[in-house]
Amino acid sequence: MEVKSLVSAVVRLDELTRLSVQELSGIGPSRARALEALGVQSVYDLVTYFPRRYIDRSRQVAIGEAVPGEQVLLVGRIMDARRIPTRGGRVLVEAQLVDASGKVTLTFFGQPYRAKQLASIDGEVAVFGRVELFRRRRQMTNPLVDPIGDKTGAIVGLYSLREASGLTSADIARAIAQVFSTYSEFVDVLPPSLRGFLGMYDVYQAFWQLHFPANEAARQAARRRVAFDELFLLQLKLAQLRAEREAAAVATVHDAHPLVPGKARLVEEFLAGLPYELTVGQLSAIGEIAKDMSSDRAMHRLLQGDVGSGKTLVSVVAMLFAVQSGHQAVLVAPTEVLAEQHYRSITSLIAETKTPDASTGRLFAGMPRPVSIDLLTGSTPAARRRKLLGELRDGSLDIVIGTHALFNDELQFASLGLVVVDEQHRFGVEQRSALTDRVTAQQGSSPDTLVMTATPIPRTAAMTVYGDLDVSIIEGLPPGRRPIETQWARSPLEVAETFALLRQQVALGHQGYVVCPVVDESTKLQVRAVTDEFERLQAAELAGLRLGLIHGKMPSKAKEEVMTAFRGQEIDVLVATTVIEVGVDIPNATVMIIEDADRFGIAQLHQLRGRVGRGAEQSYCCLLSEADSEVARARIGALVASEDGFALAEVDLALRGEGTVLGGRQAGRTDLKVASLSQDRELVLEARQHARAIIAEDRTLERHPRLRAMMQALFGEDEADFLLRS
Ligand code: ADP
Ligand code: MG
Repeated sequence: MEVKSLVSAVVRLDELTRLSVQELSGIGPSRARALEALGVQSVYDLVTYFPRRYIDRSRQVAIGEAVPGEQVLLVGRIMDARRIPTRGGRVLVEAQLVDASGKVTLTFFGQPYRAKQLASIDGEVAVFGRVELFRRRRQMTNPLVDPIGDKTGAIVGLYSLREASGLTSADIARAIAQVFSTYSEFVDVLPPSLRGFLGMYDVYQAFWQLHFPANEAARQAARRRVAFDELFLLQLKLAQLRAEREAAAVATVHDAHPLVPGKARLVEEFLAGLPYELTVGQLSAIGEIAKDMSSDRAMHRLLQGDVGSGKTLVSVVAMLFAVQSGHQAVLVAPTEVLAEQHYRSITSLIAETKTPDASTGRLFAGMPRPVSIDLLTGSTPAARRRKLLGELRDGSLDIVIGTHALFNDELQFASLGLVVVDEQHRFGVEQRSALTDRVTAQQGSSPDTLVMTATPIPRTAAMTVYGDLDVSIIEGLPPGRRPIETQWARSPLEVAETFALLRQQVALGHQGYVVCPVVDESTKLQVRAVTDEFERLQAAELAGLRLGLIHGKMPSKAKEEVMTAFRGQEIDVLVATTVIEVGVDIPNATVMIIEDADRFGIAQLHQLRGRVGRGAEQSYCCLLSEADSEVARARIGALVASEDGFALAEVDLALRGEGTVLGGRQAGRTDLKVASLSQDRELVLEARQHARAIIAEDRTLERHPRLRAMMQALFGEDEADFLLRS
């Protein structure tokens, strides 16, 4: 397709966001509605509605030459599509695909709508599938069929469509071609310096080549440019949000100089009392946090580290920075089990640590006293809760650990200096920012925020999902950890060996977990209910051992009792759901058995495995699954092959795609349509670097009017809110 040489109209892309597709000829209200169902309203939406996939016609085979047994791409015309009733009452649809060299029968089972659909196709279709010989006739069963109209060219883009939208891929291509014949240039929003540096197509050529590629190399180059733009505009917005937030609030300034002797007495005293040395990774994360906390910019930092890397300890140091500066700190955990555990372990960690004397502390006059810490969850009794609220208000309570109960409006602080959120993916970020905003309004300065992830997220994904946060990574694990031996038990014999191993470990005085996927028998997946499994194990494989049961539907009191008994070694084996997935830290447990392991995602399996291997003893993780699907092999295989959470996160991203990390993000203009967080890693880094550099010099983009107009067009209020909530 050639652009008419007469045309010379130049248009800005932000103008196209305000131009309805109905302005195009051939698009009336009904087609516009069909396009809207695909998320396409403006002409900009249309030109950025890129093909879902491409057919490479250079790989096409003449129908007469297609060999039975092989997967092939055939292109031809549909003839004689009809429904054939079968005896079983099922519907069979048959059609002939014809080209100059011959014909082949297409057979569709269980797709009655096909008859009408195939009969209505004008022009050529591309058909992809395996040719078989059936009663000496060549046929293809349930092949992929894509109408391509009368388009020629080596590579044909296919657009994704909704069922019954009434639009064909060719209709969309035609509408898009119309845009290109109306305009001869899109004003490029990238600053020229950046464009030159990147050495890519300009935006017009890139869009064009992505829709109508001249060849594969051109398509690749175009994809790269469009992917860069997507990532760059998103990073620009994130950088802007970050800069605005910094400009808006006055932050609490903490005395946080961990490496200067005499400057951070509380933290020094605390570290001196620890039974171990901090790892290099922990020290460097603490260094970054200290720098943030002692500055007058509010800290918004994401702390990443593999399971067991010691994130909790880093957060305790951060909290003590706040306390030694005369402020308070809260730590929010996602479950009561975890809040309870944090409370217990942090209490014993800081037992010997005293708050500074009056000369350093702002809140306390008089003698040093122990750092005070308390626990607040949904099940804290009313009287205790009242007392706690009072102490938070008058400043006699330094640290409070809890669940989302901490987000309650009733909580008033004497001076809240730090909010730590553990395993943040479980919280709505609105809640977290609501707390911060409320406190900021009350005390006139913003508390610092430290967010910890449960499981590593690939760096590039973190830069996108948590793009407005700074990231610290704890490299490495505390010394002396032995690798966990991970096995996949598939056969009944291997399963029996697994439970024998557990019994043997219990005989040696250790403990273990058996994790079952779902609590409720009624789920469609028909996974064994944890209660049934508990009873079954007690009667069979684990007879004679002291078993405990824990699942999310139990009252929190009961959960707490079970955890206490397990911690106190009154229980040998804990049969559990994923309530123990996150954070539980019981070093005497050395065996983790996960039933139906293929039902869990990689991150979850890694997190569960991280419950063992926490002490000096050899630990084992046994993944039970008879499934032999590709998914099972990929997931379980990855776990067996690697214990590195960051490497596993990359595998997960590649396997499951962006959906997993971008999670609930709705379809919108800011979605990544072309860029891939797993494939375009180096583009993400580059986009972020350039975006941050531009915002550092020109926060409101006054000196980049084109970019500014584009940002306004792309990121309405809703989209910006949504980004912050990611
Ligand atoms: P995670 O990063 O998964 O939250 P935790 O903070 O629960 O890990 O720490 C895991 C275990 O490692 C805890 O038992 C903790 O006491 C221990 N630990 C933390 N830091 C060190 C260290 N520097 N040396 C030895 N053990 C440590
Ligand atoms: Mg943890």
